[in-house]
Amino acid sequence: MDKLDKILFALDFSENSEHAFDYAFSLARNFNARLVLIHVIQEPVDLSGFYVPHISFDSLEKEIEEGAEKMMKKFCDTMIKDFTNYETAIVAGIPYQEILKKASDENISLIVMGTQGRKGIDHLLFGSTAERVVRNARCPVMTVRLP
Ligand code: AMP
Repeated sequence: MDKLDKILFALDFSENSEHAFDYAFSLARNFNARLVLIHVIQEPVDLSGFYVPHISFDSLEKEIEEGAEKMMKKFCDTMIKDFTNYETAIVAGIPYQEILKKASDENISLIVMGTQGRKGIDHLLFGSTAERVVRNARCPVMTVRLP
């Protein structure tokens, strides 16, 4: 087994991901590992310049990015105490793809993420980010469900 020295935590700002974060944080502390937090701004379709002029779309994107940065900062300020060995990343795209890309780009040893365990029609419509990451990641993945 490779050294567990870099943990990627996938953050969607749900109650569930706060719960899952406890595990990522505790593992990072115990293994003295670097913690990388990623949030993906979902981009379902590229509409730039189609419905609205480029300029207004660009400013909307900027506002969304700034909002996400603020939420990330608030999350870290609240949840991370006495620990500096971490970094954050906010990227746009499809969550499971960006999580997998980050994991391979950064040579991540373990991915930690929550799972809501969507059922029935919801599962059919939206699929599961956790499932896709588990199926395709080259490193181990820990999924944490809300109790
Ligand atoms: P699931 O319930 O299987 O769709 O997976 C939910 C989990 O996927 C969340 O707890 C996060 O760990 C991760 N996830 C979902 N959406 C995002 C996102 N936009 N950015 C980062 N992680 C996400």
